[in-house]
Amino acid sequence: MSKKKTGMAEELAGSDDINRAPDGGRTSFIQASSPVDKGKLVGDGRFYPAGATVSFRAAGVQEIRKWASMDENNPKEVYDGIIDIIKSCVRGIHWKDLKEADRFKMLLYIHDATFMEAEHKMQIKCTCGSCRAEYNAEVLPDHLSYKNLPDKIMEKVDPVTGRLVFDTRSFGEIEISIPSLGAIEIVTDYAARQNIKWITENKAFLDIAPYLILDWKTAGKKTMDDLNAEYNSWGVKKLGAMLELQGRMATAMNKDASSKCGQCGHINKVDVNKGFEKGVRRFFVPGVSNFDTEFL
Ligand SMILES: [Zn+2]
Repeated sequence: MSKKKTGMAEELAGSDDINRAPDGGRTSFIQASSPVDKGKLVGDGRFYPAGATVSFRAAGVQEIRKWASMDENNPKEVYDGIIDIIKSCVRGIHWKDLKEADRFKMLLYIHDATFMEAEHKMQIKCTCGSCRAEYNAEVLPDHLSYKNLPDKIMEKVDPVTGRLVFDTRSFGEIEISIPSLGAIEIVTDYAARQNIKWITENKAFLDIAPYLILDWKTAGKKTMDDLNAEYNSWGVKKLGAMLELQGRMATAMNKDASSKCGQCGHINKVDVNKGFEKGVRRFFVPGVSNFDTEFL
């Protein structure tokens, strides 16, 4: 990937648009964008509308400056920081059309394009399942794989919209969408307007609502009010069926990273939820790896 980027960088040389990434020695040129192979996205890309291309560019100085101000102990600031990077760097589709499941993977792609040097790779501490060696596993976007949904569910994906359409014996047709960042935003904003009691009582609704928002562009507070009313009208049987369906779909959000042990070659699973060795802020603020030689 970095080879291709050098080519684009050369093409762009001389253009006024060039913005250099602050990665020390070599530079990447942030205007160049690279498409993601659809097969690398959640559901092999089939949850995106037909013809949608997800691309990204490297982060530039402006984005990194903003990221550097983040308080990494504040989950909301971390989430907002990630969304800011995604907003700026995702190309091809509207950032709100990106699936929540692909958010972390996109962040890794953007990171990878921003910092080409090996010493800037993100690492997670890992113990080899075979030889027990402890090592730092490099986390690269293509090492992240999704848990596959059964064929019986994938058959229900509408190839044009990417939504899932189920015919049911008792409840007619049910259409759902794998949550997009836009849908998550609508649900989060809606929940933010409610009191704690409402949130506690409606936790299951808030979990399922992102799947019921078929298009964030046409959804808003009214949609959420309507969905909440609809949810409250479901009988016990439908509620049970919908929660079961949502639970199964949530499987598609699960990611695994794999890494090869340098000692014995065993392929280990890396828990990406464990957090990075140097903290989330270091994601786009890599520090100076060659401090002693850089600062004379
Ligand atoms: Zn090993």
